[in-house]
Amino acid sequence: LKASIKNLIFSTPTNPKPVFVITPFHVSEIQAAVKCSKKNGLQIRVRSGGHDHEGLSSISDVPFIIIDLINFIEISVDVEEKTAWVESGATIGQLNYRIAEKSQNLLTFPVGTCPGVGVGGHFSGGGYGVLLRKYGMAADHIVDAHMVDVKGRFLNRESMGEDLFWAIRGGGGASFGIIVSWKINLVAVPPTVTVFNVPRTLEQNATKLLFKWQCIADKVDEDLFISPLL
Ligand SMILES: Cc1cc2nc3c(=O)[nH]c(=O)nc-3n(C[C@H](O)[C@H](O)[C@H](O)COP(=O)(O)OP(=O)(O)OC[C@H]3O[C@@H](n4cnc5c(N)ncnc54)[C@H](O)[C@@H]3O)c2cc1C
Repeated sequence: LKASIKNLIFSTPTNPKPVFVITPFHVSEIQAAVKCSKKNGLQIRVRSGGHDHEGLSSISDVPFIIIDLINFIEISVDVEEKTAWVESGATIGQLNYRIAEKSQNLLTFPVGTCPGVGVGGHFSGGGYGVLLRKYGMAADHIVDAHMVDVKGRFLNRESMGEDLFWAIRGGGGASFGIIVSWKINLVAVPPTVTVFNVPRTLEQNATKLLFKWQCIADKVDEDLFISPLL
């Protein structure tokens, strides 16, 4: 239970505990868990990377189970087609490591900066990072998904329909079902990328610099991403 709660304020002894933590290996086990929890009046909390800021994958005010996708971590990259299928329990760090390895650093996927964040929560919440200006959000590059809905049905993009497919790409996945895996279009990166920091204190005019950044951030070349860290 504790190992995959990445936000430790939700793993104290006083936090509500689930009746069960289910760690399925197959889609059929997710379907069975959905049907069984419904029959027994238990709420479902879905967990991929366990980073939720509000503990929505870890706690609840009513009796609940956790379906933890810790075993759904497969990543298959098609370099020629520039696509990949990634299961929700993989982290965004594992995803980009695998893409870089398979494409010899020529392809990537636009995700956030914390490598331990889970694909399931990140993609279903939108997902943004240093490639935001050039390529937009992770959700913009998702082209198919496999999910189990509240009735236990296994759906893909075609069978879920465009409205639901739109909703799970930014609307919070657990509101709509359990997304098992995602098909994504990969994006190109140059073999060499330059990263640098410019540290400034208040005495060194940091305030002025921050103000200047606000004025030019959206106007500079889209290959350049400037992010202030306070
Ligand atoms: C240290 C840190 C750094 C971060 N950096 C960034 C960043 O750079 N860019 C950015 O965009 N965001 C960032 N985030 C936010 C992060 O993307 C979200 O909190 C995201 O929802 C976490 O996903 P998770 O799978 O790790 O979390 P979880 O806690 O497992 O899930 C988060 C939510 O999504 C639901 N969910 C998870 N998996 C599924 C699934 N398979 N199907 C349906 N619902 C599901 C959960 O029920 C929960 O409501 C950061 C968060 C942290 C804690």
